[in-house]
Amino acid sequence: MSFRCVNQSIYQQACTRVTPLLREPDGSLREKWTELEWQALWYSGAFGTSFRAVSGSLVEIVQFGFWNREPGPDFVHASLRVDGEQLLEGDIELDMHVADWDRHGHSQNPAFDRVVLHLFLHKTGASHFTRTTQNREVIQVHLQAESDLLHIHPPIAHPGRCCAPLRQLPGRTIDSLIETAARVRMRRKADQLRRVAIVHGLDEALFQAFAVAFGYKLNKIPFLVLAQRAKLQILREQGSAAESLLFGISGFLEDRKIHRAVVMERDYWRYLWEHWWQIRSQYAHLVLRQNLWRFGMTRPSNHPHRRLGALAELVRRWKEVRLLSPRLEEVAEWISGLSHPFWDHHFTLTSQRTVRPFHLLGQTRINEILANVVHPMLVAMNQDDWESYKGIRSELSNRRLTIVCQRLFGETNRAREHIRFLYQQQGLLQIFEDFCMADFTNCDGCRFPEMVAKLSD
Ligand code: SF4
Repeated sequence: MSFRCVNQSIYQQACTRVTPLLREPDGSLREKWTELEWQALWYSGAFGTSFRAVSGSLVEIVQFGFWNREPGPDFVHASLRVDGEQLLEGDIELDMHVADWDRHGHSQNPAFDRVVLHLFLHKTGASHFTRTTQNREVIQVHLQAESDLLHIHPPIAHPGRCCAPLRQLPGRTIDSLIETAARVRMRRKADQLRRVAIVHGLDEALFQAFAVAFGYKLNKIPFLVLAQRAKLQILREQGSAAESLLFGISGFLEDRKIHRAVVMERDYWRYLWEHWWQIRSQYAHLVLRQNLWRFGMTRPSNHPHRRLGALAELVRRWKEVRLLSPRLEEVAEWISGLSHPFWDHHFTLTSQRTVRPFHLLGQTRINEILANVVHPMLVAMNQDDWESYKGIRSELSNRRLTIVCQRLFGETNRAREHIRFLYQQQGLLQIFEDFCMADFTNCDGCRFPEMVAKLSD
């Protein structure tokens, strides 16, 4: 999607305007623009920062938050002030019509429970109230469009106050700051793994961490629950039936749509069922609800069926996992060699066989596993080698990372030199969590810029 640049003077005028109560947008624009374009316009600030809510309250946007391109509200981590006093922190949803909140099921969806502002472009004569699943009323603002607002291409996030002091620092100093944050992150992950190991034992803790990494990012919870229910110890006791048990407890074997669709590869399906029907009654109470799984918005090769196949292969070779050397390159090589006769050629349980095989886990996933599972475990066991970890290169792979680069480095190429290695990416993510995510003052109250400024003294 492409946008043209907004005229600057119109933009500035719009920023200082208080939107009049309930004015209908211009008809020609209404037809021309999609919801995404309206969202882009909103996020650019072109509507201004002060609004009159439907209720009559004055709403001032303190922080626009970040674009959310995943299921859920349109903008997350925003903050606004109501009537000059109350500060609300949460998410923002923008709909074309005020009734879309109910039509799209947001009032029944807990993912929208943090919404503090509902923006809309159109309304009819009937009254519509915006409510969360807890029946909390959400402030409504009727956006009014100007016909001379042009298309724009807004950034995914706005540059923060720390941009300026960071510009004064040499690259080496920034890297050293990022490395400090990366070490903090690694230590926290190691502590977390250690805590799980105390409760469940080291093998189960490691298995659960792998499962979560395989479920990244939309299916982390179902994968964790699955690993907690189909424990590693039980799976290993099942021997050749372990894969069936994993797929059985996942609920995928119970899915009628899959039953009907499986025609091409009956052998694997039969293999899974052959064991599952014998133990099904014993484990029926543990089977996951199908609505826990998220199948959309993932690349075909990352489909949860396929990731579960990879987890089954990991279980089958668990003895080797425990014998792996603590050298990260060797662990990465071993993981990239994981292979499965069915899943090397299929995206899902019902997809057709591909001519060429493809890796069970891609390089990005392997890097995530090194950063979130293997290296934290080595740190927890005092066997880590920080210099080898620092040498792992990584592609920019994560939307959060794109946001933090925009926040810290703005629209410059400078971020590139600080995201080439995995440790740099992990450090930036930690800064994002510790500072950007803790801030609801649009950077005013954040202490990171002062911290950075001291480094250049
Ligand atoms: S919240 Fe802090 S760290 Fe984040 S962009 Fe603003 S000043 Fe920078």
